[in-house]
Amino acid sequence: MKYIGAHVSSSGGVENAPLNAHAIGAKAFALFTRNQRQWKSAPLTDKSISLFKERCAEFDYKPAQILPHDSYLINLGHPEAEGLQKSRDAFLDEMVRCEQLGLDRLNFHPGSHLKLFSEEDCLDRIAESVNQTLDKTSGVIAVLENTAGQGTNLGYNFEQLAYIINKVEDKSRIGVCIDTQHALASGYNLATPEGFDATFAEFDRIIGFDFLKGMHLNDSKKELGSRVDRHDSIGKGVYGLTVFKLLMNDSRFDDIPMILETPDESIWAEEIQLLYSLQD
Ligand SMILES: [Zn+2]
Ligand SMILES: [Zn+2]
Repeated sequence: MKYIGAHVSSSGGVENAPLNAHAIGAKAFALFTRNQRQWKSAPLTDKSISLFKERCAEFDYKPAQILPHDSYLINLGHPEAEGLQKSRDAFLDEMVRCEQLGLDRLNFHPGSHLKLFSEEDCLDRIAESVNQTLDKTSGVIAVLENTAGQGTNLGYNFEQLAYIINKVEDKSRIGVCIDTQHALASGYNLATPEGFDATFAEFDRIIGFDFLKGMHLNDSKKELGSRVDRHDSIGKGVYGLTVFKLLMNDSRFDDIPMILETPDESIWAEEIQLLYSLQD
């Protein structure tokens, strides 16, 4: 089963996210469980939590169809003590919110070295942050997202993601999410059938499909290897439809949340229908 959806708004409370997802015909959704541009957020209320759970049950969204995304401020590989501590505190809060909502995975961008130490030091620090967070929580998988490699963001190749996974003690609680736009920007050519096959063979060899806990389905405004993070609507960017047709007909991508983060939310319902129409 393919679970296609979008990163919907949780404005007014997390309990609104399943409503917003249902309204566009989504079978999956992503959400922020707190304000993604602030360090501090009020705790989730019991009312929000119970309404969220009720609505997920009503519209038949199970944890494997929901991929919460953490705040953009968090850098688990921060080279400096203060920034690192703030990031770790906020990430722990995000994991606890997922636990409270009965969710089983949290998507995050690995981290950035800010040119203040080496890539390897940064990757080690990210793994240490994940280990510390997993020790203090239960049941939620930390899901690393591949990045476009813009600026000093790490996680732009499968080797870096595998490096972090290898250093995480509890392998049952670490996973990855592959963003199609970031993959193209970082040099993986998913645009052709040959490139698609080669990339996911490499993914399976270096990381393994067992770790795949979600996908971000985005077309790209920028060309292969640009290292620029710029999403486009499905079929309207550099990719066209080939990669999405291949994904929709490949059982290795079954039963995980596949999330649109495309720029025009007014056409999400159409994009979801378009993706399902690509299934043979
Ligand atoms: Zn993404
Ligand atoms: Zn992006």
